[in-house]
Amino acid sequence: MRVPVLAYHSNNVAGNDYADNDHVALAADLAQIHARGLRIVPLARVIDVLLGRAPDSEVERAVAITFDDGSWFDWYDLDHPTCGPQRAFASVLRDFKATTGATAHATSFVIVSPRARAILDRTCLIGRGWWTDDWWPAAEREGLIAIESHSWDHNHHTLPETAQRDQRKGTFRNIDRYHDADAEIRQANDWLDAHCRTPREGLFAYPYGETNEYLLRDYFPSHISEHRVRAALGTYARPVERSSDRWNLPRFVCGRDWNSPDAFGRVLDGAL
Ligand SMILES: [Zn+2]
Repeated sequence: MRVPVLAYHSNNVAGNDYADNDHVALAADLAQIHARGLRIVPLARVIDVLLGRAPDSEVERAVAITFDDGSWFDWYDLDHPTCGPQRAFASVLRDFKATTGATAHATSFVIVSPRARAILDRTCLIGRGWWTDDWWPAAEREGLIAIESHSWDHNHHTLPETAQRDQRKGTFRNIDRYHDADAEIRQANDWLDAHCRTPREGLFAYPYGETNEYLLRDYFPSHISEHRVRAALGTYARPVERSSDRWNLPRFVCGRDWNSPDAFGRVLDGAL
């Protein structure tokens, strides 16, 4: 079992070239995946195989696609204030399906707290209400994008208040006590279960790709019945293998681990 899990950020729009626009990169990468005879499988299938609930053949010569943060750029075609019209990640996936006939699927790790997203819409985007959750049910109905948790509030440094007890923000490493983990992880799954399709797949992606010994060795393995997370993903640049840590699965990150089609090809060559 060797499955590269790829991470894209739809808010990454600094220009309209592959190297500075994750939408452009995603479209080119999907084409390269298809041209190499690889297929795209839902991340949940990768976890099923990892946990022994599906045979390895389900993920042979496959990649899984993930998105982080869950803004409107995942779902809606938007007119970017400086870079112009952008195809949503969902549109890029649909374009790929229409032109190749292949299947496409992605898991979007969303920031769950509505209040946090309303503030981040002003502090990280341009305050036009582009970080709401109105598209999540439609995404799940279509079966194109699964909605999973990227924590309650990302412990984001631009929020006036986060779940972290001492208000030490901008990292997930100090979510290292039960009360903080419960607020960031269990609370987020409760909200998703109440507002999205159930049963959920129970996937979690660490904000900033950061974790700590408490989450890895205590909170995640010892409180499964509370948080209902089946697997957590970080950002080590490796494929998911049989020996991977269920609570810190690796992902390759667009922009950090590759920034051109050639570099993406090298990621695939090394991972498969
Ligand atoms: Zn994030």
